[in-house]
Amino acid sequence: MRTPDHLEGDAARKVALLDLTYPELENLVLSLGQPRYRAAQTAEWLYKHLASDFKEMHNLPLALRDRLAEVSEIERLTPREEINSQDRLTRKVLFSLPDGHTIESVLMHYKRRHTVCLSTQVGCPIGCPFCATGHSGFERDLSPGEIVEQVLYFARELHEAGQRLTNLVFMGMGEPFLNWEATWKAICALTDPRRFGLGARHITISTVGFVPGIEALAQKKSQVGLAISLHAANDNLRETLVPLNRRYPLEVLMGACQDYVKQTGRRITFEYALIERLNDSPSHAQELAGLLSGLLCHVNLIPLNPTAECAWRGSPKDVVLAFQRELLKEGVPVTVRIDRGLDIQAGCGQLRSRRGTCQVK
Ligand code: SAH
Ligand code: SF4
Repeated sequence: MRTPDHLEGDAARKVALLDLTYPELENLVLSLGQPRYRAAQTAEWLYKHLASDFKEMHNLPLALRDRLAEVSEIERLTPREEINSQDRLTRKVLFSLPDGHTIESVLMHYKRRHTVCLSTQVGCPIGCPFCATGHSGFERDLSPGEIVEQVLYFARELHEAGQRLTNLVFMGMGEPFLNWEATWKAICALTDPRRFGLGARHITISTVGFVPGIEALAQKKSQVGLAISLHAANDNLRETLVPLNRRYPLEVLMGACQDYVKQTGRRITFEYALIERLNDSPSHAQELAGLLSGLLCHVNLIPLNPTAECAWRGSPKDVVLAFQRELLKEGVPVTVRIDRGLDIQAGCGQLRSRRGTCQVK
């Protein structure tokens, strides 16, 4: 029996099964002297039956289960802290990773949907001043398996409650397009019918406006949705809110958005966090309508979640509604996102953050 080279002499370093592509899983099984179809069975246990222990995989021969347990592992995330919102509709989990870093993921229940909000990086290098993750700095990218495992954790929990995970949003910690390879690998695992099998149209990637990522997604010709965190419709203001705007100013970003719509025929969602007296006036709304005019899109208004690190506050409800009315008047499709889990600090990176103050430029 042949053992994979990378396992020899390094027994302590096990293969993370969830990091593997399907062909890599097949190769592992073949290298353990087993027929190819055992990979299909293993994948089914991991992604469909949501097994977290090889012992559960009872249609695999005992010898294979033992070998798999010797050379590989399934779980790398450990839940450290879990909190539910008072209305029990939002649940946030802080996971620790094998190297001691921590990430957050959130499960949100809606009428007919159960959505998981995923992290792609430990921290974030972009550093938007209103974002708790941005304040925490950047540690490292997550591996594909570390992204997938967040999904499996909540899928298990939902399964036990007789429910099913229906949607995924990449709106947790990190900028998905700065960790594109791992993010796309994770999406492949999650949409592969032999593995998790979620429809790609039930997945949305949120980006702060990393243009090469938008182009890369367009080229995939997949049904995965795209959301852009815009927050401002002129460069001066957007540079204050989103440092990456200096590298990809609005003209470049909007050009990429137009190309994306042309190539994919898909509508883009623009996220706009309303910050009191900063970007929330009727003239800001008109400016936004002008920027988006003629583009196949939808605007999502979110009153800013207050964070410990930043003095900015979310706009009051009447201002939010007035902003929405202004956009509707200009013919821009727009919804207001219901505040979710404010009482459990459901905003990006807030549970994890422990320090920092708001500094703009
Ligand atoms: N980095 C990506 C995805 C993660 S952030 C991005 O920026 O799009 C996910 C969303 O949370 C973004 O729209 C971001 O602007 C928003 N967000 C971050 N901090 C927030 C806060 N304090 N209040 C409201 N939205 C916030
Ligand atoms: Fe990073 Fe997104 Fe937070 Fe900006 S809003 S710091 S891009 S995670």
